[in-house]
Amino acid sequence: MLTDLSLVEARDGLRRRDFSAVELTEAHLDAVAALNPRINAFITVSADMARTQAAAADAALAAGEDRPLLGLPLAIKDLFCTEGVRTTAGSRILEPFVPPYESTVTANLLRDGAVFLGKANLDEFAMGSSNMTSAFGPVRNPWTRRGDNRPLVPGGSSGGSCAAVAARMALGATATDTGGSIRQPASFCGIAGVKPTYGRCSRWGIVAFASSLDQAGPVARTVEDCAVLLGSMAGFDPKDSTSADRAVPDFAAACRRGVRGLRIGVPREYRSDSMPPEIEAMWQQGLAWLRDEGAEIVDVSLPHTKYGLATYYIVAPAEASSNLARYDGVRFGRRVEGEDLTDMYERTRAEGFGAEVRRRVMIGTYVLSAGYYDAYYLRAQKVRALILRDFTDAYAQVDALLTPTAPSAAFAQGDKMDDPVAMYLNDVFTVPASMAGVPGLSVPAGLDGQGLPLGLQVLGRPFDEETVFAVGAVLERAAGFRHLPAIWAGAPA
Ligand code: GLN
Repeated sequence: MLTDLSLVEARDGLRRRDFSAVELTEAHLDAVAALNPRINAFITVSADMARTQAAAADAALAAGEDRPLLGLPLAIKDLFCTEGVRTTAGSRILEPFVPPYESTVTANLLRDGAVFLGKANLDEFAMGSSNMTSAFGPVRNPWTRRGDNRPLVPGGSSGGSCAAVAARMALGATATDTGGSIRQPASFCGIAGVKPTYGRCSRWGIVAFASSLDQAGPVARTVEDCAVLLGSMAGFDPKDSTSADRAVPDFAAACRRGVRGLRIGVPREYRSDSMPPEIEAMWQQGLAWLRDEGAEIVDVSLPHTKYGLATYYIVAPAEASSNLARYDGVRFGRRVEGEDLTDMYERTRAEGFGAEVRRRVMIGTYVLSAGYYDAYYLRAQKVRALILRDFTDAYAQVDALLTPTAPSAAFAQGDKMDDPVAMYLNDVFTVPASMAGVPGLSVPAGLDGQGLPLGLQVLGRPFDEETVFAVGAVLERAAGFRHLPAIWAGAPA
């Protein structure tokens, strides 16, 4: 089936004329029509646009053009502004918003010939780890526990992107990661996902959550597919002042480097007694695979890890409260009329934002307020500098780090909903790298006892995604992860 191909296989098939871009796109649109009613991975399906783009790709292929993503159908997280296509950020407040411009990342993908199937569901404003906070309904993970049909979360916030790719509705997808939103859902859905170094991809045209943390990246079913996608997404953009003016390396070539002679660090603070034994075992297995391929395993310490979550959940809400001030019923999206201007602001924001977003705006406003700024926000920023120093010190000894991606496999829809701290704890392994701005990748490494995917996380030096890809590709080859989610493996759904 055309939807079973990896992105690289599909690209090569198109180049050989084994099939056309229109055929490839129709196969994916059929999969979307068949599966999306159950999975809810897409908020908006842009079928007509996809068909037009696919036909244009076929014409370009016939004319001998060779662009990196020509004719390849992707899902776009609904946090990237797409010109003329509604962009909701998973929020009621942006439900009617049709951007008049294209984000830099999606413009780069279009430049390289990609086909956009539609906009992928997400936690509202990318705040969450479960996709349960979307105003457009939860996403269902295409995987289920063995012998148990209860719907599971795909992780979040890029749960729609990851579920779409895992269920073979798209060859790859864009995602964003502020504290783990690429890596954690990739792990829950049994696919690969890469959060590049902060600054590698432009944030221009991405709906802002926490600007000092937000970073775009790809998710796909293989590490090399992610490498190809990132090669198109990345690059300097003068429209984003934090975008890095650095050449984009050949990430796909880095996937073939191997790990011989590399030093891989094992951060001792990531080990905890509460870690499920299966996840600990998978971690040890990952280290053994790397050792077998010639890497040296080294124990390292990231002593401020224990402050990662606490400081992230100050910095991220603080920036969110400031970023979300723009949704006032005047400039963007929904407006609810009131008796006067203040009443209109209040009604618009009360009706437009969901509970989790309101919680974060309140926390953020509190930690930034005059009496508490020094005690919370400023202190968190200082600890953030220490977290970065931990990584800098570790990278003086090792080339990359290996950890589990998340402390659990996918959990049931509805779990952790009445306890925000339990939900936030799921980000424990992903948040420190976000605070430090370093690149990270999640690669599917195996299944747990209930038949659910578990991911391993590779972290690298700033702007050394190549080593991250090299390590990820070795783990992927060793793991040989070929399992299919329940929705394809014939299990009733
Ligand atoms: N789960 C984290 C949060 O809720 C991270 C979200 C993200 O990376 N966008 O903030």
